[in-house]
Amino acid sequence: MTLDSAQQLLESTRKFISAPHKMFINGDWVGAINGDFLEVINPANGNPLTRVPAGTSEDIAVAVKAARIAFEQGEWADMTPASRSKLLWKLADLIEANADEIAQIESLDNGKPVNDARWGDIAFSYELLRYMAGWCTKICGQTIPLSAAAPFHAYTLRTPVGVCGQIVPWNFSFMMAVWKIAPALAAGCTIVLKPAEQTPLTALRLAELIAEAGFPRGVVNVVTGYGEHAGAALAAHPDVDKIAFTGSTEVGKKILTAAGDNLKKVSLELGGKSPMIVFKDADLAKAALAIASGIFYNTGQTCTAGTRLYVHDAIADELLAALVQQAQQLKIGPGLSTDTQMGPLVSKEQQQRVCDYITLGLQEGATLLTGGKCWGKEGFYVEPTILDNTTINMRVVQEEIFGPVLCVTRFSDEQENDIISQANATPYGLAASIFTQDVSRAHLVAKRLKAGTIGINTHHVIDPALPFGGFKQSGWGREMGWEAIELYTEIRSVGVAL
Ligand code: NAP
Ligand code: MG
Repeated sequence: MTLDSAQQLLESTRKFISAPHKMFINGDWVGAINGDFLEVINPANGNPLTRVPAGTSEDIAVAVKAARIAFEQGEWADMTPASRSKLLWKLADLIEANADEIAQIESLDNGKPVNDARWGDIAFSYELLRYMAGWCTKICGQTIPLSAAAPFHAYTLRTPVGVCGQIVPWNFSFMMAVWKIAPALAAGCTIVLKPAEQTPLTALRLAELIAEAGFPRGVVNVVTGYGEHAGAALAAHPDVDKIAFTGSTEVGKKILTAAGDNLKKVSLELGGKSPMIVFKDADLAKAALAIASGIFYNTGQTCTAGTRLYVHDAIADELLAALVQQAQQLKIGPGLSTDTQMGPLVSKEQQQRVCDYITLGLQEGATLLTGGKCWGKEGFYVEPTILDNTTINMRVVQEEIFGPVLCVTRFSDEQENDIISQANATPYGLAASIFTQDVSRAHLVAKRLKAGTIGINTHHVIDPALPFGGFKQSGWGREMGWEAIELYTEIRSVGVAL
């Protein structure tokens, strides 16, 4: 598919993709200082889509300076919380008004089904902005009685943390960008955002809408470029007060090291290897639907993906037959086709990585129930794949695959207790789910699972109001809810001797 042959594209999408792309720094549209570009590929066919500037440490330095000035002086620094709230609402409204176009750009850039982008990523983004807009006017300190013998009046001020570096991945590029900027802006911070090299386009479209909404210059800056150049420079920059990162655990550790020099605040939303446990009393039809979406949604490129299925012996054959049927019925294809249910993976490298993991799983002794191969003549597709008889020490059970691959382990009555330990036995702890009709068991097991988000008779549980983040090597901190505001504020204690 070329852009010309994509009849279903909106005129505005076509115009955006075809225009030359620049970075958004200090309210201006600029190229990289060294003039370099990086190519953006359409994962549905492997063809180049466009190119964006490849910013480096030089561009990051300019952007951080702009964010510092916007934070310390001028309109944003003096803005009332109510006015900040109105700006966030305005941005949400603009995103909603342009949602079909943004969804198409996201689909072209990332590969995901356009309806998933429209009603998942984009809808969640404008609702999250509205939720965070509500916090602007409610961020406050406390008055605190002191134990000192002399009379004191003491209180706290909750103030924005400052200039924030935000680095986001390619799996939900637009939504991750909004997850990051919404609480930071609500708190009054300023931002330098670096999108992933594979999917920089919707962050640039977001920057256009930020400008249109009327945010003062320098409040949000978007620098496109490679992680090892622009990203690393942002994480290490001495004048950045906080770095927020979503991506792989491996890069998360590098961010931490880079942040160590000036001890900037760090929040990390990292990988996962989330278990789904199905007990023998579960409602199997409902469980099968939730599990299929738990693993195959977004082609498995979801940090909370339910990648490990633990299923009771008594119902395993029936549940797996239903899951195999669902996997085989999933309509695979380009994200722009409105009947596509599963799009390609984001890149050739990701496709290769997933196929290598499937081969490894089979070498390790797993049984292939369905899928297992690349799909189609062009593009980066992989069939939805189910590996049965996997065991806890296999690499496919321990490592994040980030593709549509489900690893299955069966358990007996006697192994019920042990299976909870197995569910906890990876370096990750992002999400988990339990399928059972027994209310007591559901809550007792939920308490034992080491994960930041637990679903009962559902897998993906996510809401602007619900704290989201990981135990163990799945990260530090919680995004969304009030907890996200805490990530972007500092407490200042003030004591007055009376
Ligand atoms: P990644 O390297 O962790 O990328 C995430 C973001 O960090 C991107 O913007 C990336 O830029 C940037 N980055 C890379 N190296 C950096 C560095 N040294 N300093 C600062 N920023 C840096 O993830 P990936 O390479 O795209 O994917 C690899 C694997 O990570 C996937 O297969 C998957 O297992 C996992 N992953 C997890 C999540 C999640 O939400 N948990 C999301 C994406 C990927 P570039 O785009 O230029 O690399
Ligand atoms: Mg990378």
